[in-house]
Amino acid sequence: MVKDAHPTKDRLCPHCGHHVTHASNLGKGEIMPPVEGDLLLCIECGKWGVETGDGLIRLPTDLELYDIAINPDCHRAEAAWAAMNQQRIEQFYRRAPS
Ligand SMILES: [Zn+2]
Repeated sequence: MVKDAHPTKDRLCPHCGHHVTHASNLGKGEIMPPVEGDLLLCIECGKWGVETGDGLIRLPTDLELYDIAINPDCHRAEAAWAAMNQQRIEQFYRRAPS
């Protein structure tokens, strides 16, 4: 169960193929399903995709990548993902046999 996230149709990340089943909103103040054009950060690979509005996630265009690069909300989401991923890596190595 994903806390503070809206369940979505099972879609695939266009970068890594991870099954995306939930989405959270940045800066919208309430939990709502993603709409066409919304940016989605994959929890597995940390790369951006774009909601197509017909149940798929596509790669961002060059212009969308530029918008992502200058958007402070995207920077905060990337930083949160990086911190979460660091914890995931540390937990993996703590469990790995030495
Ligand atoms: Zn991914």
